Amino acid sequence: MTDTTHPDPIEGCRCEEMLEHLFEYVDSEMTVEDSARLHRHVEECATCQEATDAETRVRLLLRRSCQEVAPSTLRLRVITQIGVLRGGGTIR
Ligand SMILES: [Zn+2]
Repeated sequence: MTDTTHPDPIEGCRCEEMLEHLFEYVDSEMTVEDSARLHRHVEECATCQEATDAETRVRLLLRRSCQEVAPSTLRLRVITQIGVLRGGGTIR
């Protein structure tokens, strides 16, 4: 009964959406529904797994150093890396 050729616009979540809500997701500032949806994508997407992992590490560092502003260079590096991963295909 399952039509695999038909993409589900409600259940489906793409990297663009994930990255757009990355900080909210890591900060758990989303609704349970949205968070679960993104979580499902993260589980299947290595790129977004890395992104959430990196952002989570940033949060841990921030908590330890008691700062309120994230190091923008690190964040920029993560975003840039994601762009390279998505646009360039394979990286060695
Ligand atoms: Zn993704």
